[in-house]
Amino acid sequence: MITTKAYAAKNATSQLAPFSLTRREVGAHDVLIEIAYCGVCHSDIHQARDEWGGSIFPMVPGHEIVGKVTKVGASVAKFKVGDLAGVGCFVDSCRVCPSCKDGVEQYCEGNSVITYNGLEKDRKTPTYGGYSSHIVVDENYTLKIPANLELSAVAPLLCAGITTFSPLRHWKIGPGHKVGVMGLGGLGHMAVKLAASFGAEVTVISTTKSKEADAKRLGAKGFIVSADQDAMNAHGRTLDFIIDTVSAPHDINAFLNLLKLDGTLVMVGVPPEALPVQAFSLITKRRRLAGSLIGGIKETQEMLDYCGKHGITSDIELIPIKDINDAYERMIAGKVRYRFVIDMKTL
Ligand code: NAP
Ligand code: ZN
Ligand code: ZN
Repeated sequence: MITTKAYAAKNATSQLAPFSLTRREVGAHDVLIEIAYCGVCHSDIHQARDEWGGSIFPMVPGHEIVGKVTKVGASVAKFKVGDLAGVGCFVDSCRVCPSCKDGVEQYCEGNSVITYNGLEKDRKTPTYGGYSSHIVVDENYTLKIPANLELSAVAPLLCAGITTFSPLRHWKIGPGHKVGVMGLGGLGHMAVKLAASFGAEVTVISTTKSKEADAKRLGAKGFIVSADQDAMNAHGRTLDFIIDTVSAPHDINAFLNLLKLDGTLVMVGVPPEALPVQAFSLITKRRRLAGSLIGGIKETQEMLDYCGKHGITSDIELIPIKDINDAYERMIAGKVRYRFVIDMKTL
């Protein structure tokens, strides 16, 4: 067993604090990664505070993991000691269901293993995430990291990047499309960068007027403050596609009305409560309401390679791990520009 330093939440109301855990020995197909950086996703907060229900404690959050391979199993072919490696939101899946066979393991219908707040394949051992010094992961669920990008700013690509890349690709967003991005946080700012780089015309819809200059710098052409009813009316029926990254309850009908005929709004944000949908918001323009969950291993690698080629990373604020509880409060207040990343040297 590999003793590993970490930060954990003891229960849904406790602050995160130092914690010690053990990782499994490196198996034939495993790599041991010394974690350099881990991004802080709003899903970490939802789960550490048990906002979605069913959380497993103690919990070590973190699924935007990058670091260096320090040991490889006897059968590992993809990595050697010293390589950079990344781990996202899941670390294994059943490998035999239709989704796994199609390379969309995030929709695994069998025994899948999420990076933390889940159970290993034995369905007994809890999984612990990236707010820790090391992690042991099967090479098939480990990503190659482009060497030309700043490593700390790559970490958020493992969740925020792929979660926005995947729906943009699935709905074939590109030149000629008018895309709305709701919420300019970790996911939202990646959605703006990626959609703009795919050639779409991007409009950010935000609660925070002061983010307008940043939205434009990130690649948006338009900016709407969602509380400005006149602006929302003026932009009615103008967008082809919207990505909703909002983490808290909101009136989704107001945003559906921004879609043109046959437009699609994809939910990636996961507010803890259900959102009421007016049938009229959909039927009057044959609109679609959809959802999307992270991305498969193959697509995550494509996203990382794409970002390497186009020089795309996250805008980050690097924090020592002792500041993690403050970082959570700042994220809830919408005060992150635009992703906190933990410097694991500080653990
Ligand atoms: P984040 O950095 O906190 O960003 C969320 C943004 O939502 C905020 O920056 C804010 O943007 C907006 N917002 C917050 N509270 C709001 C409110 N009450 N009303 C309207 N807008 C509000 O969070 P994140 O890490 O990007 O995650 C966003 C959501 O996606 C979370 O629910 C997370 O769990 C979920 N998620 C889903 C997947 C998936 O696979 N589908 C993957 C990762 C994360 P403005 O200031 O611009 O309004
Ligand atoms: Zn995430
Ligand atoms: Zn499966």
